Amino acid sequence: MDYKLECLQCGAEYDSAYASQACARCNGILEVAYVGRIAMPNGRSFWDFESALPKGTYRHYAVGGADIVASEDAGLFLKLELRSQTGSFKDLGSVIEVAKAYEYGYKDVVCASTGNMAYSIAYYSKLYGIRAHIFISSNANKDKIRDIKSTNDAVIKMVDGDFNKALDTAALYSRKKGFFLSGDYCYRKEGQKIMAYEIMQNLPGVSNIIIPVGNATLFSGIYKGLKEMKAYGCIKKLPRLIAVEAKGCSPVVDAFNSKSGIKYRIPKTKADAIAVGFPTFGMQALEGLNSTRGIAVAVTDNELEKSKEKLYKEKGIIAELGGVASFAAYEKIKGQSGINGATVAIISGGNI
Ligand SMILES: [Zn+2]
Repeated sequence: MDYKLECLQCGAEYDSAYASQACARCNGILEVAYVGRIAMPNGRSFWDFESALPKGTYRHYAVGGADIVASEDAGLFLKLELRSQTGSFKDLGSVIEVAKAYEYGYKDVVCASTGNMAYSIAYYSKLYGIRAHIFISSNANKDKIRDIKSTNDAVIKMVDGDFNKALDTAALYSRKKGFFLSGDYCYRKEGQKIMAYEIMQNLPGVSNIIIPVGNATLFSGIYKGLKEMKAYGCIKKLPRLIAVEAKGCSPVVDAFNSKSGIKYRIPKTKADAIAVGFPTFGMQALEGLNSTRGIAVAVTDNELEKSKEKLYKEKGIIAELGGVASFAAYEKIKGQSGINGATVAIISGGNI
């Protein structure tokens, strides 16, 4: 057995033949745990790191290609995920999740999204000949809904409510129909964890990684990837992880800074890509922050607007508000004591 799935809630274990991303006993979130792996993959780009992924039958579709470029600020590097196939880092997770759905024989996948993930799922589903059923908040960005429709095959269902409402609706629908539930679950996390490998192999010795937090899958995925790299002996210590949320929706920042549990927040921000009131991987994000001497930063919509403008002026990069959150956080914390050494800010999302 190459890997098993463990329930983060009740501890139940499943082998890799288990064709679901939710615990059959308690419906909790599963986590991929590897059995007997010792080798550290080497390379520069996504598929170079396939041996760090759950064993599977993956088609090597184009994914990622996100450059790391120096910024105007000495020491700050930008990881440009908006150069991915559908414009966001979601592709790293979708290409794995959809491959798993295909491997398990599903013809349909269900996904709740604020927009970017749905577009990405629809894109890779089409390549695999799978139909995507997308649940999206009726408040979602209209340009994103247009992008999802442009993939032609996706079935779009509007949900009257926020992302968490769409999430519950999608999960119920997948159970009722017997479809594969995709989204912020274990296989997506494994795909998105590869960003840790990309960063550390392309920019060894990086001290800080600033990560936008919505559902916290990317954050907890990067944290998992870094822990694996340390276990393989490839890095000596983990870089400091910095989480950034919009001030109008900052459940992880609030919990970390007040040393309390995560409480639901009604999203009040224009940064729709990171407007998640109760993050699925919030607890894992808190663990990542605590164990890397991390920092949690909330940025206002006004600060996001300014950063968006600055990034365009300096680099000609057009990104959405949620996509520039890491850059906005850097602007806010640069010069603080302890923030030294190379810093990578993850920039995502091309919708404006
Ligand atoms: Zn469970």
